[in-house]
Amino acid sequence: MPLYEYVCAHCGAAFEQWVRSASSKEVIACPQCQSVEVSKQFSTFGVKGGAGASSSVATSDNCSTGGG
Ligand SMILES: [Zn+2]
Repeated sequence: MPLYEYVCAHCGAAFEQWVRSASSKEVIACPQCQSVEVSKQFSTFGVKGGAGASSSVATSDNCSTGGG
């Protein structure tokens, strides 16, 4: 289950809520004021900046034979 962060648009409280499915019609209410006017925030991952591009291409061609 992904954990999403929400910010209440009513009181501005930030809270996290477990969401079963991204396309689930779950009603998220603010735990502070019970307002349903909340906006989902995106998790901030550690952005790693780097110059240069590296790509590795692995060509593998094998025919899998049905074994018994
Ligand atoms: Zn609130």
